[in-house]
Amino acid sequence: MKDYFKGKCEIVKDLLPLYSDGSCSPVTSEYIGAHLVTCKSCRNYLATIKNNRVTEKAFGEIPDSSPDFEKLIAKIRRHKIVTRSAFAAVTVGLLALNISLWLTND
Ligand SMILES: [Zn+2]
Repeated sequence: MKDYFKGKCEIVKDLLPLYSDGSCSPVTSEYIGAHLVTCKSCRNYLATIKNNRVTEKAFGEIPDSSPDFEKLIAKIRRHKIVTRSAFAAVTVGLLALNISLWLTND
């Protein structure tokens, strides 16, 4: 088969992620396959994509920020605020108690 993508590596590289997980149409796959036979650069690129896939599978995809994670962060923040407010309230309470004891202790 003729390499229709000869000299058009940019296009092939855009398509390689689809090609590597079999999402391309059979015709496109055939064209890309024909190009890969002749183009080392695109073969290397495909190898890189496949390696990345393996890494993703091994470590699991790490979401940048999933909704659950956001919720957890919000929960922790709220908890911190509540804890700090409670601590502040207790401190003020104790201070007030100390002052009133000090004032009535004459
Ligand atoms: Zn190429």
